[in-house]
Amino acid sequence: MQKILFATSEAHPLIKTGGLADVASSLPRALLKRGHDVKILLPAYASVLVKAKEIGVKKIGELNITGQTISLWQTRLPSSRVTVLLVDIPQFSEREGNPYCTPEGSDWSDNHWRFFVFSKAAEAIALNQANLDWQPDIVHCNDWQTALIPALLAQHEHKPASVFTIHNLAYRGLFSYQIFTELGLPDEHWHHEKLEFYDQLSFMKGGLAFADAITTVSQSYAKEIQTPEFGCGLEGVLQSRSKDLTGVLNGIDMDEWNPGSDKLITYNYNRRTVNQKFKNKIALQEKLGLPVNESIPLLGFIGRLVEQKGVDLILGQIDKLLEQDCQLVILGSGVASYEQILKTIAQQYPDKVSVTIGYNENFAHQIEASADLFLMPSVFEPCGLNQMYSLRYGTLPIVNAVGGLRDTVFEKPFDDIGTDGNGFVFHLPTAEDLHAAILRALACYKLPDAWKKMQQNAMSQDFSWEKSAERYEEIYNGIVKI
Ligand code: ADP
Repeated sequence: MQKILFATSEAHPLIKTGGLADVASSLPRALLKRGHDVKILLPAYASVLVKAKEIGVKKIGELNITGQTISLWQTRLPSSRVTVLLVDIPQFSEREGNPYCTPEGSDWSDNHWRFFVFSKAAEAIALNQANLDWQPDIVHCNDWQTALIPALLAQHEHKPASVFTIHNLAYRGLFSYQIFTELGLPDEHWHHEKLEFYDQLSFMKGGLAFADAITTVSQSYAKEIQTPEFGCGLEGVLQSRSKDLTGVLNGIDMDEWNPGSDKLITYNYNRRTVNQKFKNKIALQEKLGLPVNESIPLLGFIGRLVEQKGVDLILGQIDKLLEQDCQLVILGSGVASYEQILKTIAQQYPDKVSVTIGYNENFAHQIEASADLFLMPSVFEPCGLNQMYSLRYGTLPIVNAVGGLRDTVFEKPFDDIGTDGNGFVFHLPTAEDLHAAILRALACYKLPDAWKKMQQNAMSQDFSWEKSAERYEEIYNGIVKI
């Protein structure tokens, strides 16, 4: 049994902007089930404190960090026994909305300070200097917001082992040299093998340079980030740590995302009754005012409307796509220009396209259950969760062969689908290649036997967290200091 401090800037359902929140909730729960003593460390954002009060929260201590008093609260992850420790400073607890940006969409100007203080709190807990009478064996850090923790711990002799998980290398946590000095980070850390990145401070490098083990969220992404194409300038440091770098595919919450029992969808179905899935499509068409027709193939897209998710690829040949007999349902939010273009397209094609701008988990479940095909043409994708939800719902994904998409979606010839074929894969991130893959998918939709076989393959895959938690356990065992 290990004692694990799991430091994260989001954890579902307390706070979520993306896949990190799902991992930070599911992995600790799976580790607890395997007998580990795991505590999540999370910023006490305003919305988190509201939810924590509903569950029950108590103050368990105070820390003094660089002259600022920090309260530590303890609550629980809803519907679980996992303890959550909350780091409370006004810069977290007095701001509503997105954890990282202002309502106008720009980063909070003091993000470096907020996550530095958070990391200092983690350091104090890791060293058993927070009066909690609890010292972890492992500190598991996630993405740039927590990446300074291994660098801070490096200054101490008797410290727990550290793991750093890259959920998305593109967010490197870059700040100026002035901020490096303001934070009082040790001078010797200003070095290209440590925290310096082309004359800037990179929080992310703290994890890459100092953690005992580095993981990322799929095997393909672990390889890709060691190349200039995907390495975001960090490929050199990642190559130098390649012996310590492992790809572990994320799992999904198989209970929350279960078409057999999902209370958020109109009609429950499973592998045997997947031919009834169309009832959800009809309900969605009615709800969105699209022509109701069970035999029209419906394509879904859910996600952040940012370049990474391949929005340009979808827009690049959208008119050609909409010449086909199909419907397109989009749910997402992000870059304002993408939102605007998509809304305009929905107005131009009211019988074919529905666009909902916003973040809506219930609606995401309904789209997964209703669509026949799921578009995920990401330019890069560390792991990706939506393609796994889609597979579980028998909604065949159309993906670019990168990262976790490459590791989970496989295309086979229609007459030889075997036990692997479960979707449609293209190999160049261009609108043309995406379009060709969509045409293959629409052709396959007309072949009921092949289609059903692919749905069966998709719905048989095991994406449970147990397997992944076992891999993390092995990694912990490999680095823990006795
Ligand atoms: P990323 O973390 O890069 O955003 P992932 O596919 O790993 O991408 O995870 C995204 C998660 O956020 C999924 O659980 C997805 O369903 C959810 N999500 C993204 N955008 C929306 C939205 N607009 N409404 C509801 N859920 C969303």
